[in-house]
Amino acid sequence: MKKVSLVVPCYNEEESIPLFFQTVSKVIDAMNLPTPTIVPEYIFVDDGSSDNTLAEMKALHEAHPETVHYRSFSRNFGKESALAAGLQATTGDYVAVMDVDLQDPPELLPKMVKLIEEDGYDCVGTIQKDRRGQSRIRAFLSSSFYRVINHLSDVRIEPNARDYRLMTRQFVNTVLDLPEFNRFSKGIFSWVGYKTTYLTYESQPRAAGTTHWNMRQLFSYSIEGIIDFSNAPLRLATWVGSISFFLSLIGLIFVVVRALTNGGSSVAGWPSLVVIILLIGGIQLFCLGILGQYISKIYLETKHRPKYIVREEK
Ligand code: UDP
Ligand code: MG
Repeated sequence: MKKVSLVVPCYNEEESIPLFFQTVSKVIDAMNLPTPTIVPEYIFVDDGSSDNTLAEMKALHEAHPETVHYRSFSRNFGKESALAAGLQATTGDYVAVMDVDLQDPPELLPKMVKLIEEDGYDCVGTIQKDRRGQSRIRAFLSSSFYRVINHLSDVRIEPNARDYRLMTRQFVNTVLDLPEFNRFSKGIFSWVGYKTTYLTYESQPRAAGTTHWNMRQLFSYSIEGIIDFSNAPLRLATWVGSISFFLSLIGLIFVVVRALTNGGSSVAGWPSLVVIILLIGGIQLFCLGILGQYISKIYLETKHRPKYIVREEK
């Protein structure tokens, strides 16, 4: 018998939780036929919801005190923190991370378990094949993000990979050993290495509720990922600085040579001077901004604040 822990982050998902439990239980029951092989452990994480999410979790725990557990945050800390809190609480031999909205099809679980047990993988991830119900511009921005981050960072981040994955205990322990406060899971899961394979599936509509992401959040999430897993923006700042220094050296030589050769009084050129000053000022602020992004991350790390605060759990 293997214990499979299911980590389920929930933020205002009162409608989805019972549906999720029903659907996943059915899949697990089917996996236990004809011979029982899997014991499930549900870890629901309430990420500071303002609706009846916690009450739904408590009801499930009352009904299944052995298999259903929950941790409730003191406020909304974000999905990354919810994942960390959930992983921390798991005791299973295998651990799956799943969204509660059933966009991560539980029907894949038997196949994932099989890949780990029979083919020796440490982690089985999932990739969403198409982006149905998503605007074209959003799909384009997503694919651009993956191109950019894979170009810039040392870890490879599988395009369109979901957070939905099944991992071995060893894999999860390694992920939990990473102490960082800024947690970009997509990057962390691939940074730790191990043998990972991916399953592909058609994207699913949400079972209930609406997505928590808007364009602005997705954009800052992308920037976060790049800052957390790449120094390329810092190198870019160095390059931009070096190039403008080099160009100004050429300009200096030109001015000196002209002054020596034709005595040059050059009063003309006021507009171009202003443009140049603005340009240099802009480049400097741009590079300072990049530096600032990294410094703000360092600042957050050095405070050593907890990634989440659990208000109650069972
Ligand atoms: N979620 C969370 N904290 C947040 C936002 C989302 O725990 O601050 C959970 C949410 O309840 C869901 C999962 O993260 O289970 C994925 O969220 P969502 O479905 O909104 O994202 P999408 O599937 O649209 O990428
Ligand atoms: Mg979703």
